[in-house]
Amino acid sequence: MEKLVSIDPSNGEEVGHVLVTPIQEISRIVLNAKKAQKEWGRLSPQERAKFFDEIAKEVSDNAHDLTELLSREMGKDYRRASGEVRGAGYGAVHIAEEVLKAIKPVNQMGTSINYVPLGVVAVISPWNYPLMMAVNLIIPALIAGNTVVFKPSEETPLIAEEYVKILKKYLPKNVIQIVHGDGEQGKALVESDVNMIAFTGSQAVGKDIMQRSASGLKRLVMELGGNDPMIVLEDADIERAARFAVASSFENAGQMCTSTERIYVDQRIAQEFEDEVVAIASAYKYGAWNEERINYGPIINDSQREKIIKHIEDAKEKGAKVLLGGKEHPDRYIVPTVIAEVNETMLLEQEETFGPVVSMSSVSSVGEAIRKANDSNFGLGAVVFGEKDAGHIAENLEAGMVGINRGPGSGSGPWVGAKQSGFGYHGTVSGHRQFTQVKVIN
Ligand code: NAD
Repeated sequence: MEKLVSIDPSNGEEVGHVLVTPIQEISRIVLNAKKAQKEWGRLSPQERAKFFDEIAKEVSDNAHDLTELLSREMGKDYRRASGEVRGAGYGAVHIAEEVLKAIKPVNQMGTSINYVPLGVVAVISPWNYPLMMAVNLIIPALIAGNTVVFKPSEETPLIAEEYVKILKKYLPKNVIQIVHGDGEQGKALVESDVNMIAFTGSQAVGKDIMQRSASGLKRLVMELGGNDPMIVLEDADIERAARFAVASSFENAGQMCTSTERIYVDQRIAQEFEDEVVAIASAYKYGAWNEERINYGPIINDSQREKIIKHIEDAKEKGAKVLLGGKEHPDRYIVPTVIAEVNETMLLEQEETFGPVVSMSSVSSVGEAIRKANDSNFGLGAVVFGEKDAGHIAENLEAGMVGINRGPGSGSGPWVGAKQSGFGYHGTVSGHRQFTQVKVIN
């Protein structure tokens, strides 16, 4: 059988391998999931949730090894990887508790509204948060009584394999199964006899999935890419805004769906803001996951790194001003880069760059800032820093999640995209219910 080799992005060495799932195997795997769902679906949601106490303990007991594997395979440092592992352990128990509340039947005047399983859910996930992006979809699907066929990213198969091994140890047979491979396995899974596709990944793949699943009217939850804007107003706390701008642009080497990709700053404070950003960004260190005090790691692969360099070069050619970095990137990394005077003709502004680049331009009015921020078919997150007009601007930003003087995501809200950044979402009552069929009994 064909091997899928996992590479350490910091040095190009093999971390390990798994076997690619042959395409012709996928229909049998889905059939097994269908059969297993009958029994699993008959358990009460509370009975299903109980399995996750032991699973959390096992994840927690193995946290060190899992963290190291995640770091080596994906490139993020140990501290950040360990946060993800915690999320897959006791964090999953918390998600399960929230799902239980969300799917409790509701009785009103002789009618009961029930949230019953859909059947088999295909979970397809990306590499940038290889555990959390999977857990956020797998747990609501399972607690709701579905069985899951999970296809992790081809960049991070090992951590997915280890997590699924733990799930399999405690869950009944075939309640969770894994399919390894790339887009070909993903397509075959989407076209198989699954009832729902819960996907986190790029906008382009999301569109392909929507097309391929149309004939079966399969249910979809799609958490897609972003090109998040940040607006900095004249009355913003400049130092705080600059800290956020750098941290959010560089987090996970910029490989974060809600990383800040475009900054529009009031021209009256632009110079001061730029100086502050450069001072903060200059102190950022990159390196391998096990190096001391690094802020971000390598880029996941060569093609992603070449795309980032192409965006930087394109901006330079079109007249943007490089204030920091932008050249002499060592193999596998992108140096901390700050670019000003970016405009709408540049790839940095038009597309999701997904790299450690602060990209900014100045604006002369609040209206111009809002217009530019909304001039995108993405609409995942957005942030505004400032006081007087911040609330009004937040209301006018076309994004699923907007942060005022903070990041866009909130632990107590759903993780949701607007426009072409999402279709369906997860988290909170309405998010969890998307993994169920609503059934009314009169
Ligand atoms: P990707 O879309 O290339 O791949 C995601 C997954 O889909 C992988 O498992 C891949 O093998 C599979 N796949 C590829 N082609 C497929 C097809 N035609 N049909 C079915 N499956 C297919 O994304 P990526 O490069 O792994 O991840 C980065 C992207 O994910 C970025 O755009 C990022 O913004 C986005 N993302 C979004 C969120 C969110 O919550 N909105 C979170 C994390 C990442």
